[in-house]
Amino acid sequence: MDPCWESMQQHPGTQTLSSLSVLSAMDGEADPETLAYLQTHPQCAAEITRLRWLQNLLRTRLFRLFCPSTDMLIDHYFGLLDCDQHITIGDHLKICPHCAAEFVMLTRTPTGLESDKS
Ligand SMILES: [Zn+2]
Repeated sequence: MDPCWESMQQHPGTQTLSSLSVLSAMDGEADPETLAYLQTHPQCAAEITRLRWLQNLLRTRLFRLFCPSTDMLIDHYFGLLDCDQHITIGDHLKICPHCAAEFVMLTRTPTGLESDKS
């Protein structure tokens, strides 16, 4: 059987979860109403568990997939990249907390790059 939110077209009028409720449940932030619903709909609860597993798998596999390499961050710091790459990585550092943290770590640790930069 399909989870309730997929079968709502087949059974109009039945109680369903909104997409927002499904997402909040996947993130472990379901409201009491959604939690009560899931206690009486184990099939939906199981589907949310499956979706949460899938989300974690994707997060693990895709983590920093589109981020520059450490070498690129180092080259950015030393100004060794061409203008377009320098701007692209600078823009990325403004929006990516992972790369921004790595960049700070690379440039501020006692054995980091800062002492080598003249
Ligand atoms: Zn990044």
